[in-house]
Amino acid sequence: MAPRKLAAGNWKMNGTLASLAEIDRLLADHPASGCDVLICPPATLIQAMAAKGIATGGQDCHAKASGAHTGDIAAQQLKDVGASHVILGHSERRTDHGETDAQVAAKSVAAHEAGLVAVICVGETEAQRDAGETLDVIAAQLAGSVPDGATAANTVIAYEPVWAIGTGRTPTSDQIAEVHALMHERLSARFADGADMALLYGGSVKPGNAAEVFAIPHVNGALVGGASLKAADFGPIIAALSAA
Ligand code: PEP
Repeated sequence: MAPRKLAAGNWKMNGTLASLAEIDRLLADHPASGCDVLICPPATLIQAMAAKGIATGGQDCHAKASGAHTGDIAAQQLKDVGASHVILGHSERRTDHGETDAQVAAKSVAAHEAGLVAVICVGETEAQRDAGETLDVIAAQLAGSVPDGATAANTVIAYEPVWAIGTGRTPTSDQIAEVHALMHERLSARFADGADMALLYGGSVKPGNAAEVFAIPHVNGALVGGASLKAADFGPIIAALSAA
């Protein structure tokens, strides 16, 4: 079974109820025919967005199922309001909140137990790339962040170079291909259906570069930040993935 193609949007800390009009526009103007579409809005919008019939995800969850963790959200709570996925280990969580690979793995287990698909993010910093450490960093993050219970059905991996997120800069196709080949190889070696896990690229994907990104071997879709906020931008990215 080939990995399913997925166009995933990460709204980060953007959007209010009024922003849901973009989902109406997306569904009306850009029906996805050839790929899955997911939007991960702020937690405040998950229930209303899911009610529109589009796959919806959280942007983080706690590793525990409940308890005294003020401000956190459990995976089961995301599921309860209609989420099907949750982004875990985004570089902004790793940087802003000091999340470690072990914590990301624990959160991924919690997501799986709640019946959510974990979208686990990995990616090197610019300093690590300049030092020639990219492949070692990605291999270590994969080994540490992806739990043993991961399957092609419950896990998606997103390669997001930290220096490409929100900067308008993207790696070359060869650089993306090199990392995705490594991820495919490592996941295939470790998991029975690892070859079928969807591998997304993320970092300044726009309508203008989407087709080029989706032509790269072992790129099965994208995790899109800024360009997922507007239907006029995300729609063409979905179309490019459908056509790839
Ligand atoms: C992201 O935050 O996951 C991301 C890829 O952002 P952007 O597309 O804005 O670079």
